[in-house]
Amino acid sequence: AGGAANQQVSFFVTGLNEQLQKRSQRLEQLKLALQCGELEAWFQPQVDGASGRILGAEALVRWRHPDEGLISPAEFIPLAEETGLVIELGQQVLEQACRQAVLWRQKPGWEAFKIAVNLSTVQLSDSKLVHQVKAVLEATGLPAEALELEITESAVMDNTQEALVVLNQLADLGVSLSVDDFGTGHSSLAYLKSLPVSKIKIDRAFVKDLPDDLQDKALCQAVISIGAALDLKVLAEGVETQAQADLLMHLGCLSFQGYFYGRPSPAAEFSGGSVGQPG
Ligand code: C2E
Ligand code: CA
Ligand code: CA
Ligand code: CA
Repeated sequence: AGGAANQQVSFFVTGLNEQLQKRSQRLEQLKLALQCGELEAWFQPQVDGASGRILGAEALVRWRHPDEGLISPAEFIPLAEETGLVIELGQQVLEQACRQAVLWRQKPGWEAFKIAVNLSTVQLSDSKLVHQVKAVLEATGLPAEALELEITESAVMDNTQEALVVLNQLADLGVSLSVDDFGTGHSSLAYLKSLPVSKIKIDRAFVKDLPDDLQDKALCQAVISIGAALDLKVLAEGVETQAQADLLMHLGCLSFQGYFYGRPSPAAEFSGGSVGQPG
């Protein structure tokens, strides 16, 4: 019996070793990828529901791996966060996104185009963040008001004091801030009120079963009411159907993002009509 148990243990240890090896291999690959420019910002449109006009886009990172092809962020962002590489990664995405936004804003009718970029919690606790954001705006010539930084609900709620200082400094640059994945964390409304944010994004989890799921409908209604009460814009994510958009518009949500309007795509394939203002 002891032998069988030992075998199980050694099997387990072997499995663990393999996992660790894979992880450190992945980490080395990711470091190289950052050096070689294999990480690309892709763009997904954010749209005004009533007019159908594009308000801007969210930048979403993709890894163009030489052997494995495109790798989605779910597969490497967690590793990048655990190892601090997300600071360099975030910087590269921010630069690419701002540079691209400047080009788009030169197109006739696209002058009001806004670019949204994700900020990891790890970046939020990096003392150089504010300086780096400022430097990227200066280097690319993007006006601060054209940049929106998306922070997750848990990021803000978990490191109250320091995060608040950084967020205020970012807001002072003129950059706008939005709360991503709203409703999935544990927001205190009193605390939300004290943050310099101007938008909340309704998480896809609450949108995907609309229009049929009455509980999700009630939750979306609640988030939209919170937005109205705190004078925040509300954008719904993960909108895949006309029926979802119609219901959310009926509930008072004005801006949308999701496959129904466009999937994330490389800059060269990103298209749309003229750029509008939120309705
Ligand atoms: P997120 O910020 O919540 O981004 C929205 C995700 O939903 C994206 O997944 C997007 O492709 C996907 N999505 C958009 N519309 C639809 C839809 O209608 N249906 C469905 N099923 N999905 C939709 P993606 O690009 O795989 O990114 C996943 C997550 O990885 C992001 O979630 C974000 O948390 C993180 N991420 C992506 N790029 C970056 C980045 O540059 N920096 C950081 N720190 N995180 C990033
Ligand atoms: Ca986001
Ligand atoms: Ca989100
Ligand atoms: Ca999400």
